[in-house]
Amino acid sequence: MADQRINTTSGAETGLTATAIEQFKGSLRGELLCPGDDHYDSARTIHNGMIDRRPALIVRCAGVADVMVAVTFARSYNLVVAVRGGGHGVPGFAVCDGGLMIDLSRMKSVRVDPVGRTARAEGGTTWGDFDHETQAFGLATTGGIARPTGIAGLTLGGGHGYLMRTYGLSCDNLLSVDVVTADGRLLTASATENADLFWGVRGGGGNFGVVAAFEYRLHPVSQMLGGLLIYPMAQAKDLFRFYRDYTRTVPDALGSLINLATLPDGTPAVVILIAYSGDLDEGERLLRPLREFGSLLADQVGPLPYIALQSIVENFNPPGLRNYWKSNYLSDLSDAAIDVMVDHYRTVPAPNTHVVIEHLGGAVSRVGADETAVDHREAPYNFLIVGMWADAAEDAKVIGWVRELWGALQPFSSGGLYVNYEAEHDVDRVKAAYSPVKYARLVAVKDKYDPTNLFRLNQNIKPAG
Ligand SMILES: Cc1cc2nc3c(=O)[nH]c(=O)nc-3n(C[C@H](O)[C@H](O)[C@H](O)COP(=O)(O)OP(=O)(O)OC[C@H]3O[C@@H](n4cnc5c(N)ncnc54)[C@H](O)[C@@H]3O)c2cc1C
Repeated sequence: MADQRINTTSGAETGLTATAIEQFKGSLRGELLCPGDDHYDSARTIHNGMIDRRPALIVRCAGVADVMVAVTFARSYNLVVAVRGGGHGVPGFAVCDGGLMIDLSRMKSVRVDPVGRTARAEGGTTWGDFDHETQAFGLATTGGIARPTGIAGLTLGGGHGYLMRTYGLSCDNLLSVDVVTADGRLLTASATENADLFWGVRGGGGNFGVVAAFEYRLHPVSQMLGGLLIYPMAQAKDLFRFYRDYTRTVPDALGSLINLATLPDGTPAVVILIAYSGDLDEGERLLRPLREFGSLLADQVGPLPYIALQSIVENFNPPGLRNYWKSNYLSDLSDAAIDVMVDHYRTVPAPNTHVVIEHLGGAVSRVGADETAVDHREAPYNFLIVGMWADAAEDAKVIGWVRELWGALQPFSSGGLYVNYEAEHDVDRVKAAYSPVKYARLVAVKDKYDPTNLFRLNQNIKPAG
């Protein structure tokens, strides 16, 4: 092991001697990787193919003790710290250039209590891991709709998923978290213990420490009625209007998204993703108006296990493609907003690039505004523009197209932002995720638990000092 140059939070480099690195390595149960080591390149690779960063050191934590050692080591040298959960964050905060990457991807244990209907999962667990364990008991909680996404980043930012209209956001189902804070201590946060921290981690992202474990409330979920309804693009404007009116009337058990997308054969189309968790006959009756609208290109909706539904979306989001996303909540899905989206999609520059409207409401909107750090719960819809492409030579073209559509939709946006979908990380965008009162409360939590901003590679809440 050789001496290393490593970046500090002041912006300057510092030197770590081979002895200091060896001692650090010796205090870990997991691996410590340096540039050139086997697995170094795979450990620094995340979902978004645009992110190519080279940490000076990567700790692949085996458990909480490793997280505590890594945080303490980072703090003692003021190192730049990146924390990796599932590595699906589009801005790429999970990996840093020249600093210390705390990689939780080996910490995936999930323990289900089928009687108490709870699950405790480590911070590197993905939704695929989590659902695998909970579905063995016919249980689930609101989780991301792609299996490889991490429970950590997704839950800490809020957590949209098929079940959210019935059971609330992922973070609304949290019972407690174990957090290693900037001083290297392990704290449990819940409604009754460190309640300010528990409030902050439910929407405030990874700002307050490394969450080593999450405890969730579970619900009976097994058989779903779900899948894809695919329509010709020529019907897009009418279908979006129909979908808006239809979703105003549906029960909470019907989760859905409507997308402007390009099919694998290159045909532009409208794709509605259906996830109904109620009685099957009632679901069939409920879906009839959608199925009878216009002329379907394909009806791929049917009864299926929840776990199968959870595997549909990942086919459209393969790892390694370049990603640039922008979004905002909508107060309504107006005719004019629909026209802007559909007209703009005619010039889509890359076939994987798509536009998503998520139907929110239901239980999401019934959680009290002050109960968690998540804001904008009243919004009925969210628009998400997913720029996705393969060739770096097309970066400017696709990013420009995404920004242009996002700009054109601003008159229709509520101005509010879901923090987990933002590819940019400027202060104004972070502030758009929270009301001024909530933002000030988040700063107070940050001041208490991370006053030096050790955890800054995230949608950052800057401490007051
Ligand atoms: C293909 C795809 C599908 C998606 N689907 C959904 C969806 O259905 N619903 C939804 O709401 N969002 C979805 N997202 C967005 C997702 O919520 C965010 O990308 C989220 O940040 C991913 O979390 P992660 O742990 O995988 O990411 P990471 O990149 O590992 O982490 C994201 C952020 O969280 C921090 N972090 C990670 N782990 C921890 C930890 N243990 N403790 C403290 N901080 C931590 C990181 O430092 C970083 O700032 C999707 C994203 C992709 C790419």
